[in-house]
Amino acid sequence: MLTKRIIPPVYLIMLAVFLSLPMLAMAQEQQQAPGQGLRQGQGPAAGPDFFDFLLRPKFITMLVIAAVALVLLLTKRMNSRLKILILLVSTFLYGISANLGLKFFTGFSMHPSPICAATKSILYGFRMPMIVTLAVIIFLTVIGPKLFCSYVCPVGAIQELIAMLADKLKIRRRKPSFWLSQTVRVLIFIAFIFLSWTAIIHTVSGNRTVALSLYDYINAFHGYEISLQPTLLDNLFHFLPFILTLFFAFFTYRPFCYFVCPIGLITNVIEQIGIFRVVKKKDACTDCLSCAAKSPCPAVAEILKDAVLVPDCFACTVCTGGCNQDLLKFGIKSN
Ligand code: SF4
Ligand code: SF4
Repeated sequence: MLTKRIIPPVYLIMLAVFLSLPMLAMAQEQQQAPGQGLRQGQGPAAGPDFFDFLLRPKFITMLVIAAVALVLLLTKRMNSRLKILILLVSTFLYGISANLGLKFFTGFSMHPSPICAATKSILYGFRMPMIVTLAVIIFLTVIGPKLFCSYVCPVGAIQELIAMLADKLKIRRRKPSFWLSQTVRVLIFIAFIFLSWTAIIHTVSGNRTVALSLYDYINAFHGYEISLQPTLLDNLFHFLPFILTLFFAFFTYRPFCYFVCPIGLITNVIEQIGIFRVVKKKDACTDCLSCAAKSPCPAVAEILKDAVLVPDCFACTVCTGGCNQDLLKFGIKSN
């Protein structure tokens, strides 16, 4: 009962903080450079507008992939083969293709990565590529079920593929409690905000103080930028989060999403009001919990309880296919 009253306001405050920090960053920047306004090439007014970005192949294909996935989920046609195909396409398009040096794929690069879109906005204010990236992520999450993370994000996609491979190899995966992963994810986010705003660790560039961005050192998306960094330490920070993510994905479901990713955190807040999600047919459930036992995530037990805060659901379809009486499906929650 207490959590029912406390959690929604806490989440709303976090969302409000997230949305207000970029505004503060922009105001601060303008204060630092009075009269100069936004620097050329950086301000929203200086470059292409929202729809110029949104209509680029990267975002159009993201919306198409998400729409295809949603239709397959809602019509119960999402099977392993189609799932693998969609996940491979997302991994290739948004993760690998930009490294091939082919002109056709240059626009598909994950720049800004979802993490950069969120964290650089907090550090430096909203810029148009960040705004569009965040708008697409938020839109797809509101539609649901967490459609960006579940079928579009290349880091999410590769972890999902590894989870499927681990199942094939019969590797027993651990299912850490959601409160553990959420606590770690929130603490990292708070540490990031603290370091960004106190700038106690920073570099100085010209007359600007640039605070350390904690996520720059733990960003698994960097692993898709296959380029050698200047120093050994740079290479370590660049590739290690991705390598560790791939490794741990064999032993726990989507470790980077649940434990680290700020987009995972933000979309977990938003998915609570998502339109489409896993729903159960009321009253018919016998509480046998076979779906929860088969599922790789901590969400199913909370969905069955109609909990206020449901852990991240990545629409993997294990629980919807795992109910012996076919009582779980993707649909609209009726309240
Ligand atoms: S939580 Fe982060 S890494 Fe995971 S799928 Fe979402 S954006 Fe990608
Ligand atoms: S098992 Fe069910 S609740 Fe868990 S991620 Fe998969 S579809 Fe979502």
